[in-house]
Amino acid sequence: MPDRKACLQTRCACQTGAAANQRRITMAKDIITASVDAVIIGAGMSGMYMTKRLTDMGLKIQGFEAGGDVGGTWYWNRYPGARVDLESFDYSFSFDNDLQQEWNWTERYAAQPEILSYLSHVADRYDLRPHFKFNTRVNSAKFDDATGRWTVTTEEGDTVDAQFLISAVGVLSKPKPPEIDGLEDFKGKWYHTGQWPHEPVDFTGLRVAQIGTGSSGIQVTPIVAQQASHLTVFQRTPVYCVPTDNYKLTEELLNEVKATYPERRAISRENRYGIPAEFPTTKAFEVSEEERRAKYESAWGEKGHLLAFRMTYADVLADEAANKTVADFLAEKIRSIVKDPEIAERLIPRTYPFGTKRPCLSIAFYEAFNRDNVSLVSLYETPIKRITEKGILLENGEEMEFDAMIFATGYDALTGAILKLNVEGRGGRKLTDKWKDGPQAYMGIATSEFPNLFMLTGPLSPGPLNNMAVSIEQHVEWVADCIQYMRDNDIAVIEAQPGPEREWFDHVQELVGNTLYLKANSWYLGANVPGKPRVFIPYLGGAGGYRAKLDEVSENDYRGFTKTPAKVDA
Ligand code: NAP
Repeated sequence: MPDRKACLQTRCACQTGAAANQRRITMAKDIITASVDAVIIGAGMSGMYMTKRLTDMGLKIQGFEAGGDVGGTWYWNRYPGARVDLESFDYSFSFDNDLQQEWNWTERYAAQPEILSYLSHVADRYDLRPHFKFNTRVNSAKFDDATGRWTVTTEEGDTVDAQFLISAVGVLSKPKPPEIDGLEDFKGKWYHTGQWPHEPVDFTGLRVAQIGTGSSGIQVTPIVAQQASHLTVFQRTPVYCVPTDNYKLTEELLNEVKATYPERRAISRENRYGIPAEFPTTKAFEVSEEERRAKYESAWGEKGHLLAFRMTYADVLADEAANKTVADFLAEKIRSIVKDPEIAERLIPRTYPFGTKRPCLSIAFYEAFNRDNVSLVSLYETPIKRITEKGILLENGEEMEFDAMIFATGYDALTGAILKLNVEGRGGRKLTDKWKDGPQAYMGIATSEFPNLFMLTGPLSPGPLNNMAVSIEQHVEWVADCIQYMRDNDIAVIEAQPGPEREWFDHVQELVGNTLYLKANSWYLGANVPGKPRVFIPYLGGAGGYRAKLDEVSENDYRGFTKTPAKVDA
């Protein structure tokens, strides 16, 4: 009989682990009516670690998760080619040295199944699953002014009352529909990268359309190109891709990483992007052209990683001329890889500075366009009119026939998933109303009029501009410490104050004003979602800078928060 833990870790074909999960899920179908200390919404990395911290402190938790198991992003994103684009061992939990010493990453950039196995292992190791009800979507959360508690309900009919409401819903978890008319008419199959089926999808011999070329799309292209009879990639805005130097991790390298974990983690917590590297102080034009070029070659080459170009010179994201030196170098690389000069020119970004839309790490994305069975349609030149029964009708009247379509069209990022929860704060105030002109969140973690609500990696915090693992651990630990402080000081309710909240918003916007970020129509700005207010959402102060500011709040008795004591019985 295979070992259940091993099966959960490896997702082996025997399905022992899957069957065990299924049993758990079946049991969890019972309707829950309960009173707990905290409701945690989401069993991705942040919800899992939050559950561990709060249960360690003795709190009673009820977790809800829309997916069938833990994993969040890595549970849903099973599309071909899905893999992390930061080094696996840095994109992992650091809170328990035993955990980081015992887990052996196999690749520099782990693929989705390996990351999901890791998270499954974490869930088993700390026995987190029993705190969650899976396959259950929260559909409302209301704060009661009289009791100072939250009532959370789910689509399944659960009702749970809690002192704390913790959103761990993730920043890229509400998939964005394609916004193209006629999808319902299409007779073939279609898929969104963020909601990929659990069973493998075989595109062998099919005519496939792929729409979208962001971080998800560029991972899909080379893999589907190997299967499809023909793949047509519909590109709206070209992206900058850097090649992935992925490799198997040797025992020697892993041992070296493990031995140096304390230093790696300490540097990552202070680095601008949450990785173990020094941020440069030299500006691009302070060195010769030859020196710059050598640095760019090294960033492109075997030492390259997702953030390498953003960390070549201090002013790459602040000075247009400096930025152009990177953009020109990358355009040259695209021209050198893609054999057809017209296709190469279409793939070169021209409408925004390098790095102001998230760059991508690719395994042979550009190379895929050298295949005979891959073609590129630029939606700038040839827009789509609508989807039809047979495929895609272009504005120029041409109808292209497809057997399957892949939408890699991204997410209603940073605010979409939390707004979907229908949260109501003091006096029935709706979060959707409060944020109709953009999110307001003190330190990116709490919002006034919504007491005892914590938003892990919430809007106006650095979130996805950093290594998410670093952002998540920081927020979880801060929230756990805050709740401990409340318990130690008999505080029942904590609530962000509107003044400091407004100042934080202004500070976030002031920082972005010193950069080139506002020159791109990015999801950082909400520009990818029609009708979404244009507000720059992530905090640009860096992992270390943000940590210092958040620590300052807690070290000063949670400055900027109003604290209401628990009622003392007469
Ligand atoms: P994305 O970066 O928002 O890319 C979506 C793509 O779809 C863009 O090319 C976009 O064009 C296009 N698109 C959207 N709506 C469209 C429409 N109606 N018609 C035509 N094209 C349309 O989304 P994503 O690729 O899923 O990535 C989102 C984020 O998730 C990434 O930036 C990254 O932070 C994270 N991610 C990370 C990894 C990783 O670690 N390896 C992998 C995947 C995703 P426009 O640019 O013109 O809007």
